[in-house]
Amino acid sequence: MTPTTVNNLLIQVRAFVDEQVAPAAAGWSMGAEPDPALFSKAGALNLMGIEVPTEFGGLGLDFAAKIQVCEIIAAMDFGIAMALVNSHNVAARLCRTAPPNVRDKYLPGLISGTLRGCTALTEPGAGSDFASITTQASKIDGGWRLNGEKAWIINARHAQVSVVFAQCGEIGDMSGISAFAVDLSTPGIERYAIDSPFQQTSIGTGGFTLGKVEIADECQLVKPGRAFKTVLTEINGARAYVAAMCNAMLRAAITEAEIYGAHRMTFGKTLNNHPSWQQALDDARADLAIAEGLVVRAVNDVDKGADAQLSAAEAKVQCILTCQHHMPRLLHNMGAEGLRPAHCFTRHLAAAQVAGFTDGATNMLRDRVAMLKQTASAE
Ligand SMILES: Cc1cc2nc3c(=O)[nH]c(=O)nc-3n(C[C@H](O)[C@H](O)[C@H](O)COP(=O)(O)OP(=O)(O)OC[C@H]3O[C@@H](n4cnc5c(N)ncnc54)[C@H](O)[C@@H]3O)c2cc1C
Repeated sequence: MTPTTVNNLLIQVRAFVDEQVAPAAAGWSMGAEPDPALFSKAGALNLMGIEVPTEFGGLGLDFAAKIQVCEIIAAMDFGIAMALVNSHNVAARLCRTAPPNVRDKYLPGLISGTLRGCTALTEPGAGSDFASITTQASKIDGGWRLNGEKAWIINARHAQVSVVFAQCGEIGDMSGISAFAVDLSTPGIERYAIDSPFQQTSIGTGGFTLGKVEIADECQLVKPGRAFKTVLTEINGARAYVAAMCNAMLRAAITEAEIYGAHRMTFGKTLNNHPSWQQALDDARADLAIAEGLVVRAVNDVDKGADAQLSAAEAKVQCILTCQHHMPRLLHNMGAEGLRPAHCFTRHLAAAQVAGFTDGATNMLRDRVAMLKQTASAE
């Protein structure tokens, strides 16, 4: 696709956000369930096929295009942006490593938005320490039997297919972890929703238990020995887009506060004529500019296929901390008006906390960044 057609896509995404996301976002932050038709409307724009090759029905675009789409949607609602991109990632994963019959069973539905996908690494007892997952995959004749539980999974409450990571060997052996395509309607799977006042319902978070779930050999997407490394590589992209989404939320909040401050009067002046009020916006703009630079570096690394471990982790940590730092101050700048769900502030404030957990929790990543920098300086 040429830049002009990427621009056309971005115009359509903005219209999608104005017409489908903006009217519903306040409700999602207060517990309303998203309309499933929204996914089909996203599918009509091929948003779940952005990086999927054109021969499989996708748009065949690069990572930079996906980031731009994520930013536009997250500026209004982080939850739905994460739900759509996670479904997208399952579609892209099936194209890369699924046998044709498994791929063809789900891909058209994922791309059109009639099906949803999720990726399940986390368990009640294992999050940051992914190598310690205890969901067990045991070999049986012609396939695998899965036992365990996955928790805090985006889209899990609605998805039809999940990429499930499970241990084929001894617990703690990272080379024993494998990835499987699991149909969530398979007997033995019980799913549940996970709700929290800190996340929009649009993110669809849930979990599921797997009790003696039997799947065919062809459902193994990544063999032991490669799955752990694959996760470590692919998660760099996820960290970069979560970072970009945090910047988008902060940018949206600055703009909304600016507009409000230009007409709200106190003590005979508009708010933006009070120096300390303006200072809060200036500080946010300055930190946002630094955060944006970190995302550009990480996206370049991911798009070039370079090692993005450090740049993506650093971007995620800094963009999240920046968003978490400034969002309460911008909310304060709005006065009580900022608390209304019609504005973005409370929604984005909560989402910035959630973003601090997805695809690598902040403290764990801070340690990772320090370690990677130490290694780089020793070389
Ligand atoms: C809304 C939401 C959506 C999610 N979606 C998905 C999904 O789609 N798929 C999926 O698989 N998972 C998903 N997750 C799970 C997410 O990846 C985990 O929450 C994350 O990996 C952290 O794991 P944990 O919550 O178990 O925290 P823990 O691993 O128990 O960590 C607790 C705290 O200790 C810190 N910590 C841990 N280890 C270290 C260390 N070595 N050094 C310093 N600090 C450390 C962490 O930073 C964190 O602050 C989601 C989570 C949320 C909240």
